[in-house]
Amino acid sequence: MTLVTQSPVWRPFTQHGLQPGAVKIARAQGSWLEAEDGSRFLDAISSWWVITHGHCRPEIMQAIRDQSERLDQVIFAGFTHEPAERLARRLVEITPAGLDYVFYSDSGSTSVEVALKMALGFWRNRGEPRTRILALEHGYHGDTVGTMSAGARSAFNASYEPLLFDVTRIPFPTQGREQDSLDALEAACKAKPAALVVEPLILGAGGMLIYSPETLREMREICRRHDVLFIADEVMTGFGRTGTLFACEQAGVVPDIACYSKGITGGALPLAVTMCKSDIFDAHYSTDRSRAFFHSSSFNANPIACAAALANLEIWEKDETPRRVARLCALQEQGVARFRGDDRFSNVRRLGTITALDLRCREEGYLATIGLDLMRFFNDRGLLLRPLGRTIYVLPPYCTTGEELDLVYAAIAEAASRFG
Ligand SMILES: *Cc1c(COP(=O)(O)O)cnc(C)c1O
Repeated sequence: MTLVTQSPVWRPFTQHGLQPGAVKIARAQGSWLEAEDGSRFLDAISSWWVITHGHCRPEIMQAIRDQSERLDQVIFAGFTHEPAERLARRLVEITPAGLDYVFYSDSGSTSVEVALKMALGFWRNRGEPRTRILALEHGYHGDTVGTMSAGARSAFNASYEPLLFDVTRIPFPTQGREQDSLDALEAACKAKPAALVVEPLILGAGGMLIYSPETLREMREICRRHDVLFIADEVMTGFGRTGTLFACEQAGVVPDIACYSKGITGGALPLAVTMCKSDIFDAHYSTDRSRAFFHSSSFNANPIACAAALANLEIWEKDETPRRVARLCALQEQGVARFRGDDRFSNVRRLGTITALDLRCREEGYLATIGLDLMRFFNDRGLLLRPLGRTIYVLPPYCTTGEELDLVYAAIAEAASRFG
């Protein structure tokens, strides 16, 4: 494995003093990445959770080629284009009924920033200004200042702490202690906050923490009763990751505002949407310019990204797609099942296509760098896995086969012998 070391590139979430090099990838296909030197990596985390059907899915690549010959980019205020119009109509059809408006942006963080701004604008325009945000403990919503504020505080954002706004944290609904969270939410709602923001069913960067659809439904219900906006951050969970197209479906929940990004183009191009109910749009609708929703991104609704998203939605219309996702869920269950009852691991879990398990470390000393050590261990075996500390998770593209997953789980067993 040859690494690029001399480079002006400053990489994300990277301590260059500990990770001086990066693997230079030349091409990708299905579940596999191929480096310039010919070495191959099984992409067991879908390239940071974005690739859904597989790398370089032909229909999406073709849609990108076709669209790029017609229209590359156009200002989206006062102008529109067919891919954005068609995609918005399709999204309204397939997302939970009632999410009738689509605001385009270009990353998950931005889609959540937009959601928070929509919530505050809604209350201000209704003549009842509310600014407090409720958020789940261990949540992650992005790395911009607003989304860091809503997310868990940790070493990752300690430097920026003075810039972050205060939010009310609702304890994570740990299994068996759900009522404590619901009670805390109920109490927090009495102070008339603007909105609750949650990752439905599974908290991703917070450690792949799973909670039940019943709890999600209860949280939504409490917000409805107290007239607090409910924001579902489906940036990671959207587009099949939890086994259904959207996680909220499993709880029969319709959020007031929903954020989608990672899988929306199948992972091929950056795009995000924030969708909302009509009362949020209506609160901004007026002949008074000061009540408008003041947000834009240079690349709102980029036509090529919208065309990729439309191709992705067409793939979802084929029966084989939900079948493939269901098959992966079953394969993932088989793969992770062997670790249930293995005392080198705790909290062996699965939600839809995602599995996760926490390695008990043999030596305390491993704890500080265990994530990096494990990542290197897996990379050396031709696997792209990127544990969150001692939490190893497998989040593969939907085309991944049982044989490929066998490679992953065999390496996890080997890692347990080495580090566990
Ligand atoms: C990744 C993620 C984000 C941020 O998305 P970016 O595209 O990285 O800005 C927000 N929310 C959740 C739940 C995520 O997993």
